[in-house]
Parts: sequence; C-alpha cells; structure tokens
Amino acid sequence: MRRISEAAVLLQRFPMGESDWRLILLCQHTGKISAVAPGARRSKKRFAGVLDLFCELDLVAVDRGRGGLWRLEEAKLIQAHTKIREDLVAIAHAGYVTELVDAMVREGQEDPEPYAFLCSLLTRLEQGPLTGLDLRRVELQMLEQAGVAPALENCLACGTRQAKSWAFDHEQGGLVCPACPKGPHREELGQAEVDLLRGLQAGRSGMADSKANQALIRRLLIRLIDAQIGRPLKAREFLRQLARSKEHARTRTGGSQ
Ligand SMILES: [Zn+2]
Repeated sequence: MRRISEAAVLLQRFPMGESDWRLILLCQHTGKISAVAPGARRSKKRFAGVLDLFCELDLVAVDRGRGGLWRLEEAKLIQAHTKIREDLVAIAHAGYVTELVDAMVREGQEDPEPYAFLCSLLTRLEQGPLTGLDLRRVELQMLEQAGVAPALENCLACGTRQAKSWAFDHEQGGLVCPACPKGPHREELGQAEVDLLRGLQAGRSGMADSKANQALIRRLLIRLIDAQIGRPLKAREFLRQLARSKEHARTRTGGSQ
C-alpha cells in the first residue's frame, strides 16, 4: 500500500455510486491520479467545500492497488481560486485548461512541471480570461510537455530556416519548405504565421498578429492536440458557444469592439 501526502489540483470529478465522488487529481510529485472520495457527496463535513473544480488541495491518499484507484483520506484547501468563478469566460478557460492537462498528462508520469504550470495558469485566470494568444501558448506548452512539440525551427527535409511559404506536415510533425517533398496531410502556412508560432513557442509576448493568422494557428494546434488524444475536448464546445453569444451581443448593440 502506498501513501502520499502532497499538494494537488482537482481536474475533474464524477458522481460514483450513491455517495462518493470519483476525482481526477494532478499531484505535485506523483502526477495524475484517479481517486475515490468516500462519502463526499453525502456528508458535507468530511471534505467540506474543498472538492470543487480548480481547487488546490493538500491531500493524503492511499493506493490500495485496486486498478489504480486511490482513496482520498484527507484534503485541506490551499487555494480555491474563487475569483475565476466571477467571470464566465475565465471559468470556460479554466475548464479548457484543466481538461487539456487531464488529456495530455498520463497517469504514472511523475513530472512536477505540469502541476506548476497549471497552478500558475489558475492564479493568472483569477485576474480574468486569457487572450487567444495566451491559449495558443498554453496549447504549445502542453504539446511540448507531452513530447510532441511541433518542429518549427527549420525545414525537416533540407534544414532551411527561411522560405517564402511553408507547409506543416502533420505526419512528420513539422515544417517543410516548398522545395522539399511533403506528405498528403499538410497545412499551408505563410512566413508570418510561422514567425508567430515560433514566437509563441519561445514564450515571447506582445507579438503583432492578425485575426486570420490566429485562426489558422488555432486550427493547426487543435488538430495536433486532437491527434494526440484521439478525441475533441468537451470544453471547446463551451468556448465556441460563448464566442458565438458574444458575437451575437455585439451585432445586436451595433458595437465593433
Ligand atoms: Zn526543405
């Protein structure tokens, strides 16, 4: 029997049986675990108010060797990130980020980096929603942590760094210049889009960009992520609905901000 005592973020929770929660937690040292919180839905006392999404907890859990399902023994609140709940778009972004982390981090991957990354994002989200470029930076970072970062430095075939146009080859996971042969699953990119992607990957902020560039990069990264996890993320639909209702409100009021 293994026992852990460490900080963790609650990524997802599902009702289990009559009175339990099944939790997906990202622990600081142990990485991602599934755990049952016995009686947590029936008794409000035992884990009072700490098993909400986006909460950072100090937990004690034991692995009883039952198909990888841990048992939560104790949980104390470190940080609830309650300010996120004051803004619907920030909630949607936090939901997307936690679902993305859940999908990209494998159980048994004992790496403290995703935990630190997620905590810093949740802290940032208390100040309000992320920008589109912030979200792309998050997606790139998660791809990198999963070991499948897109290769954006040079043409994969000849090594050149400068080209008038580029194709992103989805099978090879990187850029190919017009002079080199490329596979059938590719996306055409201009130098501006490649520069923006390289800047995002390098963590630069305040870059010039256009809506068209951003949309193309968003599509490309979503395709890379979906290929990695084998399904679309649920939180993305909520983000789409929010964007649509925002657009609707804008056309009704005649504003153009
Ligand atoms: Zn080339």
